[in-house]
Amino acid sequence: MLDRLRSIVQKVNAAKDLQSALDIIVSKVREALDTQVCSVFLLDKDINAHVLMASEGLKKEAVGHVSLEAGEGLVGLVAKHAEPINLQDASLHPSFHYLKDTGEELFHSFLGVPIIHHRSVLGVLVVQHEERRRFDEAEEAFLITLSAQLAGVIAHAEATGAIEGISPSGHKTSDTVFPGVSGSSGAAIGQAVVLFPHADLRQIPQRRTQDVDKEIEFFNSCLELVRQDMRSLHSKLAGQVAEEERQLFDVYVRMLDDDALGNEVVQRIKMGSWAQGALAYVANEHVSNFEAMNDPYLSERAIDIKDLCARVLFYLQNKVTIETEYYENTILVSEEITPAMLAEVPKDKLKGLISVKGSGNSHVAILARTMGIPTVMGTVDLPYTQLHGKKVILDGYKGEVITNPSEQMLARYFETITEQDQLTKGLEGLKDLPCETADHHRVHLWVNTGLMSDVMHSLDQGAEGIGLFRTEIPFLLRERFPSEQEQYDIYREQLEAFSPKVVTMRTLDIGGDKSLPYFPIEEANPFLGWRGIRVTLDHPEIFTAQIHAMLRASVGLENLQIMLPMISNVNEVTSAMQLIKKAYRELIQNGVKVKFPPVGVMIELPAAVYQTRALAKMVDFISVGSNDLTQYLLAVDRNNSRVAHLYSAFHPAVLSALQQVVTQAQAEGKLVSICGEMAGDPGAAVLLMAMGFDVLSMNASTLLKVKSVLRSITMEVAQDLLDQVMEMDDAQMIRSAVDMALYNAGVDRLLRSSRTN
Ligand code: PEP
Ligand code: MG
Repeated sequence: MLDRLRSIVQKVNAAKDLQSALDIIVSKVREALDTQVCSVFLLDKDINAHVLMASEGLKKEAVGHVSLEAGEGLVGLVAKHAEPINLQDASLHPSFHYLKDTGEELFHSFLGVPIIHHRSVLGVLVVQHEERRRFDEAEEAFLITLSAQLAGVIAHAEATGAIEGISPSGHKTSDTVFPGVSGSSGAAIGQAVVLFPHADLRQIPQRRTQDVDKEIEFFNSCLELVRQDMRSLHSKLAGQVAEEERQLFDVYVRMLDDDALGNEVVQRIKMGSWAQGALAYVANEHVSNFEAMNDPYLSERAIDIKDLCARVLFYLQNKVTIETEYYENTILVSEEITPAMLAEVPKDKLKGLISVKGSGNSHVAILARTMGIPTVMGTVDLPYTQLHGKKVILDGYKGEVITNPSEQMLARYFETITEQDQLTKGLEGLKDLPCETADHHRVHLWVNTGLMSDVMHSLDQGAEGIGLFRTEIPFLLRERFPSEQEQYDIYREQLEAFSPKVVTMRTLDIGGDKSLPYFPIEEANPFLGWRGIRVTLDHPEIFTAQIHAMLRASVGLENLQIMLPMISNVNEVTSAMQLIKKAYRELIQNGVKVKFPPVGVMIELPAAVYQTRALAKMVDFISVGSNDLTQYLLAVDRNNSRVAHLYSAFHPAVLSALQQVVTQAQAEGKLVSICGEMAGDPGAAVLLMAMGFDVLSMNASTLLKVKSVLRSITMEVAQDLLDQVMEMDDAQMIRSAVDMALYNAGVDRLLRSSRTN
């Protein structure tokens, strides 16, 4: 059975379009179950009917012409209840609706199973027999299994049609929404430019070379051409992103060095392979090793290698470079957008990015946020290969792509974009005003940073401090751990730029989805594994070097705070404090005039919520990492687009945990802040202020929006709203209540919609 299933799925997968896929399904299923009829009905939403799309056994003329209104007949019943119906004699069932012109009067037994993709019923797969007998359990199970597997393929084929503006049964359709996750907020309308890898490494035959030396020389000359390309991309990015981010290209170029990939290829050529084959072999081996790693950061390195080697292959194949034409409003689309692809588009033409793979943590999303380009990641159902040249709407607020947009939809988004621009201009006036409610309650708005460019942008937005400097980001962009001196330089730059304002530096938070390429962590459950403080306590040499660098960098400025991530028990804080004190003493003994900084812990695990009071006793401040706290409380991977709808910081459990943290920290007289994405959501910020958070730390791009909302509301209204939502038991209801309160306070529509969930 399993073999049959596999073979049908494989054949359907290889079909060129929806109709051929359906034709294969009906013919193969009829054969496998030895039935007289197999048919597929698909729901055409535009006409709200189930259309007979393919059949073996019913009259051919009926296909594409016969349909049942939604809810009509046995097919409608299967779809409505999303459950199979198995009948000995269909005509005796009260819902039976005789379909004239199909010839179905000959067939008595009926088994229909729903075709379900992402909870919605796409259609119904039906088998029928002349003989009056129920299909047996094994047949029913086979059809259910097959239908579940085929649903994705059918959805993909339907989506491909939708991009062309055609519904399953051939009607005109528009505004097809493809969900993903937000990589960078903002809306954009533009024309898609789809980039494919330069040359296909999987299609290279293995051949032998006649002249090894000449082949090596040719390979090296191609390598040099790619090096030059990368250097010119590097300089194209000058002025657009910070030097640190541009270093990504240096990492690229170094991958080609003699002691890295380049050498391995040369060794294979020496063994007699032609250059293309040698390159493909080495590249594929590295790619499959990286891809096999259960770690999003490392599997993304596979993308870098693929991209880089494809560039070399391009020259090996003696191809001339075809300059990609970019539209004035380019929306760049690729299966896996790499930072190099991003750099190739002229900045003034680039309006948005769509990456089918990847998450909000991918390099490219980090770059996009820095450059302020609306971005949607993880649009797994988008048939992106069909999109080139097509007009699309990109909604980076919701993390959605809309293809084949109607005039009305376009008008709506044009309005959003105009409002967006006006809003940004209007907010600039708030830069130097305090964040104070109408009834004079003062809240402090700080920023989250990772790169120097964030710092500049933050100061520009009137940030009052840094609540989270993600020190792992400069670590991620290197090929080895930065030395203590290199770290000193990075930290000093941030501390100086912000002085005398406070800079909260988090100790290295790697693991989970943030693995260093040079320090791979392979685990079955990385989010529950060796992460954050767990790694650095096990490597006191890494921890101590970082603390030394931070402390030395703060000399004379004294605006440093140190923060510990992923704390799950008091012992971790005790051990970390011992190491920090030891590092401090060592510096003092060496004559460095450093002040001992305030130290705080992050509350981002449910266990820490329950221990806030004990933890608060040990440190100077508490800061909630609501991104991880939400992920762990709700058991929802924060990067997985499939379960993204379950991830909500407005979940009552999250709100109640947050309130508990504030109360416990205040009971110990400690300052309490929050530095997850939630703090940058204007609606959530109102609740957080009412809960009693002293500091809200967010992305610089959301700071003025939050300030504007908090200045237009009173603490009294915020507290009433909080009282009201704390009684509610559903995240959606809470979100709506918050939206309503903002609406009543006259808050702009776009400020209400910049959501984090
Ligand atoms: C958090 O978890 O909320 C947080 C701020 O840390 P990060 O997003 O870097 O994990
Ligand atoms: Mg975290």
